[in-house]
Order: sequence, then C-alpha cells, then structure tokens
Amino acid sequence: RFISVEGVDGAGKSTQLAFIDRWLTEARIAHIVTREPGGTPLGEKLRALLLNEPMHLETEALLMFASRREHLAGVIEPALQRGEWVLCDRFSDATYAYQGGGRGLPREKFEALERWVQDRGSEMIQPDLTFLFDVPPEVSQARMAGTRELDRFEREAASFHERVRNAYLERAHAAPARFRIINAARSIDAIQQELHVILSGWARE
Ligand code: C5P
Repeated sequence: RFISVEGVDGAGKSTQLAFIDRWLTEARIAHIVTREPGGTPLGEKLRALLLNEPMHLETEALLMFASRREHLAGVIEPALQRGEWVLCDRFSDATYAYQGGGRGLPREKFEALERWVQDRGSEMIQPDLTFLFDVPPEVSQARMAGTRELDRFEREAASFHERVRNAYLERAHAAPARFRIINAARSIDAIQQELHVILSGWARE
C-alpha cells in the first residue's frame, strides 16, 4: 500500500512522517520511507536544482515529474511489488498545490503528465491514503521563521502559501476516500493520537 504525506511548508509534516514511520515499524509492517522531489540519486540532484535554482515555472513542473518518473521506476514500484508499504513525503498532489495553486499552471497540464508518468496500463499509480497536514499560513510562517535556511519555495510570500493551501484543500475535497485532512495547528500529541486512530483502522481494512 502507498501512503503519501502532504501539507504546506511549516505544517509539521516531517515530525508526523517520522511518527508514521515509527508506527508502521511497531506494527511490524514492512515499509520504506522516501520523498519527492528526490528519492533516487538522480531525483536528489533534481531536488537540489529545484530547491535552489530560479527557473521557468514549466521547467519546474516538468522536473518534478521527471523526478517522479525515476522515483516510481526505481523505488516505489519495486517496493510495492515486494509487498512493502511505501510512505512518501509528498507526491503528485504537491504539484497540483505548488505548481498549480502556487504558480498558477493549469491543471490539465498535470493531468497529461500524470497519465504519462503514473499510468501503468490498466491503472494509474496513486497513493491509497494521503494525509494532508493543514494549517493557516500565519501558523506555518511563524513555525518556519528562524528555524533553518529557507528554500526557494519557503521564501515565497504569504499569498503563495495561501494559494498552495487552498489548492491542497480543493484536491482533498475532490477525493475524500483517499484523503485525511489533519488539523495541524494543534499540539503534536493531539495530532499523533489522531494519526494512531486512523492508521489502526486503515491497517485492518
Ligand atoms: O517537503 P519538503 O519541504 O522537503 O519539500 C521541498 C520543497 O519543494 C518544499 O518547499 C515544497 O514547497 C517544494 N515542492 C514543490 N512542488 C512539489 C514538491 C515540493 O514546490 N511538487
């Protein structure tokens, strides 16, 4: 099974991803943890470019999908074929949110690229479960301030992050069976209690 974790920068995604990883280990569920952009040697090189180099907005979207193609072929599909679960830090929903909502590229472009990159004959590879860590931009901006050096996306204006958030929420509402929207403005403990309940239920399905 394929789980992805999404959210605006500063939502606390990394902390919660580490919790989900521990939860799966304790439940003795064989799994891998990986991330986008990145996840493969070439993907990590693309990530370094994406996070630091200014580029045309379509180049940005295309490199995200190039990284995803490598990642699917080299890491995600082999793991799923071995019967392992995949826990992935961001996937295509991030492209709809950042390059779509944030940068304003039309959705149709991503739909075409998704068919190209994620299509495997009879089915389209998509996460089975997606956690969306949702916070208002004031909260995420405050959490990020002064913590570390910010990347090209994190340095964007508050209005960019607001558009990213709204695009994520729109995607989540369009696919309620796959998404779990987590109110990430709460304490880490409260969020982890909710994650535990969701994961226990979902793992039994
Ligand atoms: O998840 P993480 O914060 O490590 O992601 C790295 C950066 O890449 C983030 O700032 C995120 O906004 C950006 N990103 C993006 N489009 C994607 C995936 C990630 O702009 N499709």
